[in-house]
Amino acid sequence: MVKVRLEHNILGANELLARKNRNIFSTQDLLVINLMSSPGSGKTTILEKTIDSLNGKLKLGVIEGDLYTDQDAQRIEKKGVRVVQINTEGACHLDAGMVDKAFQELPGDNLDLLFIENVGNLVCPAEFDLGEDLKAVVISTTEGNDKVTKYPLIFREAGVIVLNKIDLLPYTDFSLERFREDLAQINPLAPVFLVSGRTGEGISEWNEWLLREVSAKRA
Ligand code: MG
Ligand code: ZN
Repeated sequence: MVKVRLEHNILGANELLARKNRNIFSTQDLLVINLMSSPGSGKTTILEKTIDSLNGKLKLGVIEGDLYTDQDAQRIEKKGVRVVQINTEGACHLDAGMVDKAFQELPGDNLDLLFIENVGNLVCPAEFDLGEDLKAVVISTTEGNDKVTKYPLIFREAGVIVLNKIDLLPYTDFSLERFREDLAQINPLAPVFLVSGRTGEGISEWNEWLLREVSAKRA
């Protein structure tokens, strides 16, 4: 596994590098998804389930952002997909420069779909364009109902929203109705998938949507 250690850079330079990344991804017809959430929402588990069902149908790559460890990258590597680890050394988000360097280290080419798992944080990852096609926000039923209204930027920027741990819904105070009402105010257009990374519920609908997005990017 290749590891890249980088410091984060400032926002203006970020925009130039995001543009560079976007151009490279476009020339390769590569769909890139920036996966964001708070810590513990289940991004990596959803990725594992997604890889299980899409590996074979698509050529997948993963850039794993993490503060200091490579635990998530090891989980992904076990699935047999190409993965590059970025350790931000304390920086609480990924930026376009880190993704630029990491993508250069990603083995092979002709990928169809690249996931960038961002650092677990609902605040500043939303402010940094990585050159991705879509920002996907994962939120889980155990996080409570206040996240959409407390962190409106990340939910506004989201091209797709995944509500995880739907199997735990009966054991929480999470209100699906309130969740949908809050999203209707902030981001009425993003598709919402209800999934359980643990049981696999809803993963096939999410994966069918990903397949359609990959086709749309190629066309
Ligand atoms: Mg993770
Ligand atoms: Zn940050």
